[in-house]
Amino acid sequence: TETAATPLRVEGLEKRFGGIVAVDDASFDVKAGTVTGLIGPNGAGKSTTFNCITGALTPTDGEVYFQGEKITGMRPEQIANRGLVRTFQIARALSEMTVLENLMLAPKAQQGEKLWRSVVPGARQGVVDQETELRERVWETLEFFEIDHLAYEKAENLSGGQQKLLEMSRAMMTEPEMLLLDEPMAGVNPTLEDKLLDRIHSLREDGYTFLLVEHDMDVIMEECERVIVMHQGSILADGNPDEIRDNEQVIEAYLGE
Ligand code: ADP
Ligand code: MG
Repeated sequence: TETAATPLRVEGLEKRFGGIVAVDDASFDVKAGTVTGLIGPNGAGKSTTFNCITGALTPTDGEVYFQGEKITGMRPEQIANRGLVRTFQIARALSEMTVLENLMLAPKAQQGEKLWRSVVPGARQGVVDQETELRERVWETLEFFEIDHLAYEKAENLSGGQQKLLEMSRAMMTEPEMLLLDEPMAGVNPTLEDKLLDRIHSLREDGYTFLLVEHDMDVIMEECERVIVMHQGSILADGNPDEIRDNEQVIEAYLGE
């Protein structure tokens, strides 16, 4: 169906802060099973758009639909419960805890058949004991992101890149359908960046959908099948990487930065 093919739709989104129009009548959608890039110069409105989609901010105008349901104005946890999850910097309160504890305490998903359970099969075998099931799923997740050797480290002792992998692991424990990543490669060394990109690829193959804000243009052009460009709060261009690379308005917007 149309809804299944296009899980996220943003229609006429507007966000004002006093006299500043941070997002100005922005409309776009994201197709299922894609990595879609959201780019634009500093101050273009990318983070504000993310915040409006995931409920951290209430839009001044416009609507956001996830899997056909209007989610505009819902609280962040209500939106996350529906499977639309955003990665954040690791919360300070959790940094004293080990990597393992961080995953054990990741927000619980709703009941029902979830994609992550088919990727991480340990959890699917009808384990009777919920605690055992959770533990197995935590370990499978740590192995998937190759941070199982760090299970008993305090989160605060991890490198920036390892914390990003932990952050992704925590997000996956909530069993999302779609992930919004705001500069996931920032501060990540090349080795871990490759690992993170490889995991994103693999998850995309498994049917996950990504909306990715990233300032590294090489990453955007290589990883995204579609790129949406914001400039001064508006959608300036929307197309495949080749179209975006050659778009005069996009080049001008970046030159004017
Ligand atoms: P980007 O993520 O693309 O760099 P932002 O969404 O962070 O852009 O910001 C878009 C515009 O909105 C900028 O002009 C920024 O200064 C402004 N802005 C963002 N958040 C706030 C806020 N909480 N209060 C006032 N202005 C804000
Ligand atoms: Mg930003």
